[in-house]
Amino acid sequence: MTIDLLKDLNPAQRKAAEAISGPILILAGPGSGKTRVITYRIAYLVRTVGVNPHRILAVTFTNKAAREMRERLERLLAGSVKDMTLGTFHAICAGILRRDGEAIGIQREFVIFDADDQEKLLKQAAADANVDPKQYPVGKITAAISSAKSQMTTPEKFRENARNYFDEIVARVYERYEKMLRQNNAVDFDDLLLKTVFLFKRHPEILKRYQERYVHLLVDEFQDTNLVQYELVKLLAGRHRNVAVVGDPDQSIYSWRAADLRNVFNFERDFPDAQIYYLEQNYRSTAKILQVASSVIADNRARKDIKLWTENEPGDPVCLLEAYNEQEEAQMVVREAERLTGSKKYRLSDIAVMYRTNAQSRALEEAFIRYGVPYKLVAGTRFYERREVKDLIAYFRLIHNPADSVSLMRIINVPTRGLGEKSIVEMQAWARGRGLSLFEALEASSTAVDKPPLTARALASFDIFYKLIQGFIEDSRQMPFLEFFDRVLERSGYQAYLKVQPDGEERLENIAELRTVAEPFNGLPPGEALSPFLESVSLVSDLDNLDETEGGVTLITLHQAKGLEFPVVFIVGLEEGVLPHFRSFDDPAQMEEERRLCYVGVTRAKRRLYLLRAFRRSLMGGSTVNEPSRFLEAIPSNLTTEAVSPNEPVQPLIPLQKKLYQYAERPPQAQAAQVSKSAAPGLSRTHVRPSAPAYKTGDQVRHPVFGDGVVISTLPVKDDHEIVVSFKDRGLKKLLLSFAKLEKT
Ligand code: ATP
Ligand code: MG
Repeated sequence: MTIDLLKDLNPAQRKAAEAISGPILILAGPGSGKTRVITYRIAYLVRTVGVNPHRILAVTFTNKAAREMRERLERLLAGSVKDMTLGTFHAICAGILRRDGEAIGIQREFVIFDADDQEKLLKQAAADANVDPKQYPVGKITAAISSAKSQMTTPEKFRENARNYFDEIVARVYERYEKMLRQNNAVDFDDLLLKTVFLFKRHPEILKRYQERYVHLLVDEFQDTNLVQYELVKLLAGRHRNVAVVGDPDQSIYSWRAADLRNVFNFERDFPDAQIYYLEQNYRSTAKILQVASSVIADNRARKDIKLWTENEPGDPVCLLEAYNEQEEAQMVVREAERLTGSKKYRLSDIAVMYRTNAQSRALEEAFIRYGVPYKLVAGTRFYERREVKDLIAYFRLIHNPADSVSLMRIINVPTRGLGEKSIVEMQAWARGRGLSLFEALEASSTAVDKPPLTARALASFDIFYKLIQGFIEDSRQMPFLEFFDRVLERSGYQAYLKVQPDGEERLENIAELRTVAEPFNGLPPGEALSPFLESVSLVSDLDNLDETEGGVTLITLHQAKGLEFPVVFIVGLEEGVLPHFRSFDDPAQMEEERRLCYVGVTRAKRRLYLLRAFRRSLMGGSTVNEPSRFLEAIPSNLTTEAVSPNEPVQPLIPLQKKLYQYAERPPQAQAAQVSKSAAPGLSRTHVRPSAPAYKTGDQVRHPVFGDGVVISTLPVKDDHEIVVSFKDRGLKKLLLSFAKLEKT
């Protein structure tokens, strides 16, 4: 007997899920179940049709979305789907290049350069090409090269097409940059896609293998694919042509990353037999929120007419609030978040605050901290951008791929090994003169008779470094991964180096966190863990930092919020110049994209929506008085209210310090701390003797369930201590010391 998997879909969704042969395009508005259809379609293919998961390729916009879809599928199928290819375009291409890149000269051990590495390399390339960075800023050249790559323009092509002097400059840097990437055995993010297309075009026999393998292709968020990604879809689907793409042109918000909405329209041209499905019922939002959304987007002219209706209840009016400045705006958000959660109807994790630019998070964060309301920030640059994390990863990358000179340069003198700038430049020149990579040059100079013109001391230092890395390379092949991890950390001297830094403790914590990332790879045989570990680290894109821990309001940019949903959404900064962003003022196409961005934000809300603006705003240095956003004007007044809660008195906000005082009943009591430092060196944490009243106000602690927190107060009770901790993600908890299993961090 087969179970009707698709019973959780409505008839239109069901049809789209069952139409498994031939190309199909699902065009539908937000919350209509596009992602759900993709997921169920896969389950249906595997379970009902009997397709081997090995033959399915599904593309999501973020790694997080891929993880969620996989978990969902495992539940639906009551089994593992690990043979399925499911991930972002970048992750999928990285896999293909690892397997088959050698055919186009990409060695298996290639590393993926992130934005930071890329910038370093480009600076060097520009300098080598004698480009004056004042006249031609690296940022502009980078953008030009990235855009060329996403349109599949090679350096040679770029040179041919150059129309002005700037293009000539870019062409020069581009050529040099490509050469350097090759020397480093590295690819950048754009390359992952571009080289895969190149591989397929150059080697039809390899393409054929993939084409035969993937009988079914599915792509979510198709409206935000770029030209190269679409090319990949066409290539891979070329044989079986069972390709399902889903998208919403009104939610196309990544044109600045070369996403091209025209792909949606071209799909119909390139697959003339494509069936088109429309899903019109929205399951996510209240009727009022949906009406507000459609009034916002209605002013866009370049649109496909996509209908959207809902059976959901009308819901509360959308709340429009004006604050005096960004601080008051943030306070309004915090106050309302407290009110909503105080009534127990919502949890903090049900709430998201969305904004146009990252810089806007500062004022919000300050308010959340001041009033002691837990939040989590989904920022562009976080963990993996931290210096110590990047340093240590550079060690691993160099060990994995000694040709990676960018990583080598990053750490050759970190910690200091007495190697001055001059000696390093000299060594680089010597390497170039001999056509060697830097690491090969180190090897050669340690054995060769004709040595680079350096002092004996410098030569000795280089030699020590060379032997250090060489030793690590051998270790990496023999040791379990975590043991190897610890060894690199220790023998490189990096751990000792961090310890003496003023903020060393925090930095070591980050390293400990990286070690946690490494843990799952420990199960692999020695020698086989480093590569997948580095792969997983490289592919963490900036869209993926949404941490899954419970509790806390989510602070997130509108761009990052795509595809997500929250019961309560606040959008702040609805002002001319902020949203819409001032850069779109004299570009109608850009203005339409801003409107879509606002539309994406509004349609994330399930039950309650707040649109806030400030009369005066200080942002990134300047202070301005802004008009209310034009997007607000479009909203009919019968859908909105300007009072948060007309029948309730305004709640005063209480700063954290005061709250704690009330909470702890008695003033916090400082305790003489009796902490026994554990003898183990390095990452192991400080442990606490259970019998001693070992905590004092301000101590950083960790709890196995509640996570990290700060001790607010301790109080002797009977034979025990009562201890109040403010946990980062869980708020205040009162614990008994003997039971609490707290650890100092
Ligand atoms: P977006 O354009 O924002 O990505 P979407 O079209 O992908 O939205 P989903 O995220 O798939 O929409 O669905 C929105 C919400 O509606 C989800 O919570 C989903 O579980 C729910 N939903 C979709 N279809 C149904 C259905 N037939 N029955 C019940 N719930 C549904
Ligand atoms: Mg979706």
